[in-house]
Amino acid sequence: MKRRDWLAASALAAATAGGTFGNSRIGLTAEVPQQSNDRLKITDVKTFLTAPAGIRLVVVKVLTNQAGLYGLGCATFTQRARVVQTAVDRYLKPFLVGKDPARIEDIWQSSFVSSYWRNGPVLNNAISGVDIALWDLLGKRAGMPVYQLLGGKCRDAVDTYRHASGDSFQAVADDVRRYMQQGYRHVRVQVAIPGTSTYGARKSEQEDESIPENRRTSIWEPKPYVRTIPKLFEFLRAELGEEIELLHDVHERVPPVLAIQLAKELEPYRLFFLEDPFSPEDIGYFKHLRAQTSTPLAMGELFNNPNEFVGLIKDRLIDFIRVHISQIGGLTPARKLAALCDFFAVRTAWHGPGDVSPVGHAANIHLDLATPNFGIQEAREFSQEEQDVFPGCPELRDGYYWSNDRPGLGIDLDEQ
Ligand code: MG
Repeated sequence: MKRRDWLAASALAAATAGGTFGNSRIGLTAEVPQQSNDRLKITDVKTFLTAPAGIRLVVVKVLTNQAGLYGLGCATFTQRARVVQTAVDRYLKPFLVGKDPARIEDIWQSSFVSSYWRNGPVLNNAISGVDIALWDLLGKRAGMPVYQLLGGKCRDAVDTYRHASGDSFQAVADDVRRYMQQGYRHVRVQVAIPGTSTYGARKSEQEDESIPENRRTSIWEPKPYVRTIPKLFEFLRAELGEEIELLHDVHERVPPVLAIQLAKELEPYRLFFLEDPFSPEDIGYFKHLRAQTSTPLAMGELFNNPNEFVGLIKDRLIDFIRVHISQIGGLTPARKLAALCDFFAVRTAWHGPGDVSPVGHAANIHLDLATPNFGIQEAREFSQEEQDVFPGCPELRDGYYWSNDRPGLGIDLDEQ
């Protein structure tokens, strides 16, 4: 059937359904006849850039014609924040003003195709800011936390992991112990690689005058890194025992064949997961990696497009999905992704570092609470400055994130 015929047939079906279906939408963007003058509608969409912890965050506020009723969403693409802001202010806002904020799925779908070209990080983050705000807003209207709208709690709190690092193996072990004493059961470990500049390297090392200046801030050598990490894990298992769950992030930084060697060498140390062994451009290597090692694999921090993760999940090539929720477009696609993973025994491990706003962390946590195949949540402590800007920041206690159980996402923004 041609598209025009299909539309006509759909219109006829809707018309003949009559009565209760009289207001059904035919296509994705057709307007619903206004039933009364006080119909709830979106009246404004605002973007806020703020950096209370030094990392620029992008937060979107969706306002309605009901006084005091608004929602907040995370649109943080910190490296290109102003581009996201333009996408929201110049394109999404005029597209959304006047629409019914309860039509979350429809708004997501129509916003997604509104640019014709799609699936990039800027537009996905812009849509996410609106999408998460609409879920927050719906929760406030219902008087329920968002996790309740997603099906209700599968757990009382969200198990998390923290980041330990250091200049030496001993310093990493000491950092892990510090987290274990605070109640954490999962810790990601990274160590400085001498002569290179990796995250995990302390500032002191980057200023080490024994390292030539031109090698202090921009040199990355895959082979010394790949030789060092198995030795780190051998040391940590001897030092810390078997019970603590250890994670490691390759951060897409080595040639694929070295990542395969690394994953095989790490097998005896029983990692909770090895993260992002390949760049998104190299995901074709996963079938080779999977065939050669039982080291658990997490992937997806840089994913934007469903074509990047659907194949890995259906072919059972990864164990944890690591996407940054705003990067794929917000809660609406993330809850579907979690459900897809559930059918293939893949668990969730949503990205949760400093370049996710506290609003985004709250969205992660509400989804974690309601997801049966939840795996782990990357966590961070919120500074006093962040808590001042975002009243209602999720609470981190005994290694768990706790929701405050307030309606919506339970978090606010102090615009001052
Ligand atoms: Mg990562």
